[in-house]
Amino acid sequence: MALVVAKFGGTSVASPERIQNVAKRLIKKKEAGDRVVAVVSAMGKTTDELVSLADAVNNAPTKREMDMLLSTGEQVSMALLAMAIQSMGHRAVSFTGWQAGIVTDDEFSRAKIEIINADRIIDELDNGAIVVVAGFQGLTHSGDITTLGRGGSDTTAVAVAHGIGADICEIYSDVDGVYSADPRVAPRARKLDVVSYDDMLELSSEGAGVLQSRAVEFARKFGVVIHARSAFSDEPGTIVKEVAPTMEQAVITGIAHDTSEMKVTIRGLADEAGMAARIFSTLASNKVSVDMIIQNASSDGKANISFTFPGSQRDIALDAVDQISKELNASEVLVDDNIAKVSIVGTGMKSSPGVAARAFKALAENKINIVMISTSPIRLSVVVDGDQVQDAIQCLHTEFGLDSDSVFEETQLSAEEIAAKMNKGR
Ligand code: ADP
Ligand code: ASP
Ligand code: MG
Repeated sequence: MALVVAKFGGTSVASPERIQNVAKRLIKKKEAGDRVVAVVSAMGKTTDELVSLADAVNNAPTKREMDMLLSTGEQVSMALLAMAIQSMGHRAVSFTGWQAGIVTDDEFSRAKIEIINADRIIDELDNGAIVVVAGFQGLTHSGDITTLGRGGSDTTAVAVAHGIGADICEIYSDVDGVYSADPRVAPRARKLDVVSYDDMLELSSEGAGVLQSRAVEFARKFGVVIHARSAFSDEPGTIVKEVAPTMEQAVITGIAHDTSEMKVTIRGLADEAGMAARIFSTLASNKVSVDMIIQNASSDGKANISFTFPGSQRDIALDAVDQISKELNASEVLVDDNIAKVSIVGTGMKSSPGVAARAFKALAENKINIVMISTSPIRLSVVVDGDQVQDAIQCLHTEFGLDSDSVFEETQLSAEEIAAKMNKGR
């Protein structure tokens, strides 16, 4: 008998039939003797549709009202799932984030979970119910509804698993595990059996949307073991846990990519102290999350600074850039929103010199120009032209011996769902 948290993402609960399938899976677990808590996302593209709806009435809604709106998506799926379970003759009870005892800070739209008081969940498990919790939401200390950032139901699942002391946190989605690259972009990607928290955190932070990075961070902090697996099959997926380094470890665990960022270059700045400080202070005071930065001095005593940031912050960032580039008398501002960041990740890199050289050579042989570079002890990221993202992933995947013999096959998703997945982050 195990105590299990099972999280189902949007695609897995996109229709009444899929909700019924989830109900059947949960009942099967219960009948096998497990105590089960389900965490659900909003159905299909509901969250995106709610965002569009907000946009239709106000192009700059307050974050508080936005969270009020977006949290409704998960409330629909949790109630429907509980009803489906009940209709199959089993006890079920659904809880909103706040009923489940999830208390967050007051950073609307990207709140952090501070406390989870799981008494009510445990009481209902003791009563023999399957408990269904709405993902992605919580309540501030002063009683306002918050959401946990896009993909945040994963974090709810890990937090609930920690709160009830679950044996495992299962994250079910439309792929059957964590792959060495997004299998929809790199069909030769291989499914990984086990990934360390450190590698997974780096992959998720750099764009591998299969697990939200905050969920992995939370899991690492509290030692929650994650099993990422398919909502449509019983095959085992990928275990994410603490892994001791070994001698046989692969140099690279996987490749993540992110097409959601854009790049700005400010040209013709005076090459003197304080310029970068002024530019990045202005961006920081506008809460722009700058990612990569490069600066180069030119021979005529002028400097250029380029940096990347999320495309979702386009308007606010470009306004700030406009203001500061005028103040600093810059000669020109260039904007490029067709870029992609490709990151190779692996704890094995630490003990393996020459990784960067190999990566750059592979890219060069495939005529892929590197626009920016950044590194950490277990990661190398390059920015390339957005049109070359797939080629870049594929050549690095091959170079580091990650290619699988088989090709990833889509089994359950409609063409429309696949297209929506591919456009995510654009
Ligand atoms: P859910 O809606 O269930 O939370 P997500 O769309 O958030 O599911 O995550 C699953 C998707 O993550 C897959 O459809 C896949 O395209 C994408 N993905 C990106 N990187 C990876 C990776 N390394 N391994 C597996 N899937 C990945
Ligand atoms: N529904 C939310 C989103 O689309 C949360 C989640 O799916 O995890 O981002
Ligand atoms: Mg997700």
